[in-house]
Amino acid sequence: MNKNCPFCKPETQNLAFADENGYYAIYNLSPILPGHSMIIPGRHCSSLFDLSEEEISLFFSFARRVTAFLAEAYEAEAYDWSLQEGEPAGQSIEHLHLHIIPRKPGDLPEGEEWYGKLQQQSSQAIDDPKRAILSMTEYRDISLKLRKKWKQYKSGEAK
Ligand SMILES: [Zn+2]
Repeated sequence: MNKNCPFCKPETQNLAFADENGYYAIYNLSPILPGHSMIIPGRHCSSLFDLSEEEISLFFSFARRVTAFLAEAYEAEAYDWSLQEGEPAGQSIEHLHLHIIPRKPGDLPEGEEWYGKLQQQSSQAIDDPKRAILSMTEYRDISLKLRKKWKQYKSGEAK
């Protein structure tokens, strides 16, 4: 655990709406679009290259299932994934995270592409109050609702 890392904080991981095998799905505090979430490893690591083959497989198969879940929950027919690694690539938090953004036709105003928004957003720290679009109450509320839905989704998957 890295003390200065917002994704290592127990309060961040405790609000994950899904977790499996040490990987967490957390809602974005400043979502670009509804459903914008992130997959993170529970332990602090900054790079995909820090994961073993087995961990990579767990990370991406969890991410894929969470993507299918979010697409259903937000009635989206498409999605974006983004993983920024290293400062020149726009990584602002040095804890590996994959953005998952459910997409719908015409969901962003013309001329506004999601990647640019992601860059703008990542230029500020997660703790920066200017960045937070959601209040902590809203954030908590969304996270808890998604957690409930994920449980239902998982029980459906098992059938
Ligand atoms: Zn961390």
